[in-house]
Amino acid sequence: MLPLMLAKRRKLNCIQPRLIAFMLFTMTSGTHLKESALELMTKYPLVDGHNDLALQLRIFRNNRLRQIDLHNFSNVATDINRLRAGHVGGQMFSAYVMCPAQDKDAVRLTLEQIDVIRRMCSEYPEFELVTTAQALMSSKKIACLISIEGGHSIDSSLATLRMFYQLGVRSMALTHTCNTPWAESSSKLYKVYSRKNNSLTDFGKAVVLEMNRLGMMIDLSHSSWDTAEAVLHFSKAPVIFSHSSAFAVCGHERNVPDQLLRMLKENTGVVMVNLHSGFLACGDKGNVSIAADHFDHIKNVIGAESIGIGGDYDGAKMFPHGLEDVSTYPALIQELLRRNWTEEELADLLRRNFLRVFHRVEEVRDEMELVHPGEEEIPLLEAANPCPIVYIAKSRSQTL
Ligand SMILES: [Zn+2]
Repeated sequence: MLPLMLAKRRKLNCIQPRLIAFMLFTMTSGTHLKESALELMTKYPLVDGHNDLALQLRIFRNNRLRQIDLHNFSNVATDINRLRAGHVGGQMFSAYVMCPAQDKDAVRLTLEQIDVIRRMCSEYPEFELVTTAQALMSSKKIACLISIEGGHSIDSSLATLRMFYQLGVRSMALTHTCNTPWAESSSKLYKVYSRKNNSLTDFGKAVVLEMNRLGMMIDLSHSSWDTAEAVLHFSKAPVIFSHSSAFAVCGHERNVPDQLLRMLKENTGVVMVNLHSGFLACGDKGNVSIAADHFDHIKNVIGAESIGIGGDYDGAKMFPHGLEDVSTYPALIQELLRRNWTEEELADLLRRNFLRVFHRVEEVRDEMELVHPGEEEIPLLEAANPCPIVYIAKSRSQTL
């Protein structure tokens, strides 16, 4: 037995120096890539498409900002210290209201979420509320953009949509997990406004057109593929998927299939990859590598000029190992560098693609300067609001 053991040991001794050299190389190249990722993100701070911190402010503190220090808010995945560590230079904060509020108090709740985002972004000097592509591009702080997640927030009213724009909202997802009377969700969770076809009604087209006219980005995350396709045909401006991943890598209904990716490329829009494990790894927790697979796939299908990041932190619950909160974005960039993404491609991914889309949306707004505000109304039979007040003009002989 002894000679055999010695022989094994000798063999081990023989390969050990080579193993150590390989490990050292891996460690050095890993450190080098980490430094490169941080350097790149300092030069091109991330603009992220989707974050639900405002929802958590509602859940934990009922929007009482004075009870929280947003520099260090340990219950959640987002705070100022971690946004800075993650090299986030712009964040679209979602004013999200749950679907059961549809046809009830969705508008008020949305206003309250817009209010808390506006307060957060004006009371903390590290934040800056921005409403234009130019301000987003030149901000030296963490620029805040406001988005609405779900068309139920406007209660089928173009006037309400316009007022949200006035309050600083620059993006709206047409649906969340429920259909609206005029657009269809990818989810079948709620059995409201279900229909066999007509995934974007005439009123839905009026909403799209009004968003084009206002200069508000159309967000197709959460929309059904039919609705997304209809909007991609109809919109005059590029659209975004603010937090969706690649269906070919993980076959979840919330992800974008290749045929829609190709239409998105035609539209010159951007898909911002969602980092939630459920959409990346289809059930597993996953790791940085599976996240990178989604970016690689989308790049292969439509090129790096159509990709961004929409982390979905504090909206979704489970994230891959190594991507647990907003401080971890550099780990993703490090992995993409390792996969030979170039500086130009990563600069596009981190911010330039989103800025290009935002800028083009503003140009379309300017081109539509002479178009009057939409006055379309949803037909009463198409909406299920149980107690609408309907004004009926009396004849002239009657007094009010
Ligand atoms: Zn969402």
